[in-house]
Amino acid sequence: MQSPLTFPALHASHAGIWMATPDGEVRTVGKGEAVGRAAETPMVMLNAPLVAQRLGYADLSGLDVLELFAFVHPARFVVPTAKGLATVLGIKADAEDGVWSDQKVPHLLLAATQRLLATLADPAWPEREGAWDSAQALMRVRWPWANIVLRHLAKPEKPERWLFARLPEWEEAAPRTPPRVVTLDPDAVQTQLASLVGNGAETRQGQRDFAQAAARIFAPRARKGEPNMVLAEAGTGIGKTLGYLAPASLWARNADGAVWISTFTKALQRQLVREARRIYPDPETFKQKVVVRKGRENYLCLLNLEDALQGGFAGRAATLAHLVARWAAYTSDGDMIGGDLPGWLTTLFRRNGSTALTDRRGECIYAGCPHYKKCFIERAARASVQADIVIANHALMMVNAARGRDEVSRPTRIIFDEGHHLFDAADSMFAAALTGQETVELRRWVIGPEGKARGRRRGLAARLADVASYDEEGGLAIEMARIAAEALPGDGWLGRVAEGVPSGPVERLLHAIRTMVFARDESNLAESGYGLETELADPPPAVVDAVADTQVALEALARPLTLLGARLEAMIADPPEWLDGGARARVEGAMASLGWRIDTVRAWISMLARAVGPVDADFVDWLAIDRFEGRDMDIGMHRHWLDPMKPVAEIVLKPSHGVLATSATLRSGGDWANAEARTGAVHLDHAAEHFSATSPFDYAAQAEVLIVTDIKRGDMAALAGAYAALIGASGGGALGLFTAIRRLRSTYARIADRLARDGLPLYAQHIDPIDTGTLVDIFRDDPHASLLGTDALRDGVDVPGASLRLVVMEQVPWPRPDILHRARRLSYGGTDYDDRIIRAKLAQAFGRLIRSAGDKGHFVLLSSAVPSRLLTAFPAGTSIRRVTLEQAVAAIKSGLSPVTNIRQDDANTLQEGNPI
Ligand code: SF4
Repeated sequence: MQSPLTFPALHASHAGIWMATPDGEVRTVGKGEAVGRAAETPMVMLNAPLVAQRLGYADLSGLDVLELFAFVHPARFVVPTAKGLATVLGIKADAEDGVWSDQKVPHLLLAATQRLLATLADPAWPEREGAWDSAQALMRVRWPWANIVLRHLAKPEKPERWLFARLPEWEEAAPRTPPRVVTLDPDAVQTQLASLVGNGAETRQGQRDFAQAAARIFAPRARKGEPNMVLAEAGTGIGKTLGYLAPASLWARNADGAVWISTFTKALQRQLVREARRIYPDPETFKQKVVVRKGRENYLCLLNLEDALQGGFAGRAATLAHLVARWAAYTSDGDMIGGDLPGWLTTLFRRNGSTALTDRRGECIYAGCPHYKKCFIERAARASVQADIVIANHALMMVNAARGRDEVSRPTRIIFDEGHHLFDAADSMFAAALTGQETVELRRWVIGPEGKARGRRRGLAARLADVASYDEEGGLAIEMARIAAEALPGDGWLGRVAEGVPSGPVERLLHAIRTMVFARDESNLAESGYGLETELADPPPAVVDAVADTQVALEALARPLTLLGARLEAMIADPPEWLDGGARARVEGAMASLGWRIDTVRAWISMLARAVGPVDADFVDWLAIDRFEGRDMDIGMHRHWLDPMKPVAEIVLKPSHGVLATSATLRSGGDWANAEARTGAVHLDHAAEHFSATSPFDYAAQAEVLIVTDIKRGDMAALAGAYAALIGASGGGALGLFTAIRRLRSTYARIADRLARDGLPLYAQHIDPIDTGTLVDIFRDDPHASLLGTDALRDGVDVPGASLRLVVMEQVPWPRPDILHRARRLSYGGTDYDDRIIRAKLAQAFGRLIRSAGDKGHFVLLSSAVPSRLLTAFPAGTSIRRVTLEQAVAAIKSGLSPVTNIRQDDANTLQEGNPI
């Protein structure tokens, strides 16, 4: 494989380090030589931060072929591994099984580079527009590839349109009329289901029954405030998504209304988009009828991007901004987090600058923005008003309901898939935190950048300058708010608070809280550097005094903000002449973000009142210091609803006409009362309907649960040894789940090299500098790879087929015994409450293993003491054995017997000789 390139290539894995000279000679090298050569000569490498980590040299830089890929093919998917790159670029491996051995990877890097550079000269290259200008700009910010790219790229004959001129504008449409009253005919639902399932395939009874149950939420509502609510537990493999898409699409068409489908994970969102294409096979119709909505902090803000491109960002962050600008011209929706921006791109830049490209702080100036008519967020919001199917997530559904700008576009028919997560989503959404970081954020929002801050961020006064000049009272309110915000913590607060020299009332409160938490914490975690907390009970005088001063300071801020909100409202009600459509939209936008800030400050004031007043039984309050590796990260006061489904019932459920909450584990290992509580149905004035269908999978033949009893808790060496043995026995394809990052890190450090030498790559969340979504993509793509992780992997992994054939849990997932958990445990049933949580976690983890009828695998729980009452978490018919590690390894090596199609629905099968 010859290369005209003058650069060498470098590859490092846990098994060693390899270098290829430009003419293709490959040899192994030591760490010292690799680092030395990389410092002298730019080297082609794949995922520089990962190579840097393998070499133990954080400052490594070079020619990252992934960056070149992002330039040449923006918005195109690639798994960021040798195999993934080879597949997408059509480069064949020498080996028959398509495996790129470590020795061959440097060759591949050179070949991939050549292929990408050759594309630049290809007249058929679809992503040519904008490349020349972008490469010129990238040269100015010293992108290592820029010179090489420009040598291969012809200057365009005509000047290119710049990004902001090229993006299409959204169209304003008339408001949608309310949906017609229709009743769905059961036969029509079946016909629709059959047409979606397609290919003349027979629909299964469970799926047909599920579709009819889902259809019942679309019946005309009997009374205001009483939605038709159905709780449906449907085992994996029933075909839930098509089961509810059938009645939903039928109703949307007949009633001319929108159905919102809400999920918890991105994996399910992607699946829904795929399945919804069956309803609207024509791509243009699909684009109009199906819209994916995310929280606004997911989308690229074009104004922030423009600022970054024009000098707001420096160094590597500026390079990232230009690559994001390349992507912005080709993206389908501008979603930077779960959309078509490669998840690995921002991690190549160590996330430097990526969050500043989104609108995280609510600084949008709406119609005052020069890019308003092209804004990705505004486009998605408008499209969803006209769509039939809106795919969203639980958090967005709740934000929309609580703070939505527009009553007319609020969801009225809602399907919550992954409904077992509603409780947790609500718990975060309706929580309040009066912390240093939150208050600093509010100060910046009101005052704007202070000191030497760069960039376009502006304070309230600058954002509403025209309002201030027109309305004297409004202008005065803005000035009063600015003065009041100076009482909030500013930059450097954490240091001042830790050193005992707080500035202003809120910092004084944070200092008093810090002292109180350290004094009262009994978890003994202070020494190990982890977060600390204590109940908000019987506060010492220093806290009481600081609370009173903070209340005064926050009231002084809430008053002018509220007055400003009223002035803006009056302006909309009786508009001045200059308030044209654009200015009106901007004032409405300002009202929305102002309302959200006022709600936050009011919530803080009410928390403070509780700190020195009577207990409110609806809430759990506590004080905490967030710490990471011995350093304080944040300090403050927290408030959660004891039952967060109460506000959900009021704000989301009762105003709607129909709600389906569904999941494979909706009852979370409990009964229907548990499902009612976790979905909020218990707070409705009328009963929700229940439906259940068991999975069609043959769990007795497809899966086996092995409880390994001879690994002592706390023995880190034995834990790591067990993981290595189990992963080795299955030849990779293992998902390792941990409840503590510390144990994950320790296990990974002990076994990664050993496994790599046997050709079994190991990846890990919290260690590899790769985002979780990409880690799952890598894992899915390589049947020899294994992946270690924590909570996000217990739910977010959908890997059918051979890539996932073993799940290993390090221990029984006992709930964290924190203050919030203790309060809920006391209210909701003590041990039973704990058991329900554990069973739900076990069921979700087990659910990763068998995703399709052809899947097979083992689920291993490393625990010497698993109470038998928890084992109902596993689907009926699943074989469960208590074994030694040696027996588990032998069982995994010999695999499972062929599928027998015997179902045992009534009980888990207990193996003789190994009683549970
Ligand atoms: S309208 Fe707002 S979010 Fe959109 S580009 Fe402009 S400032 Fe950014």
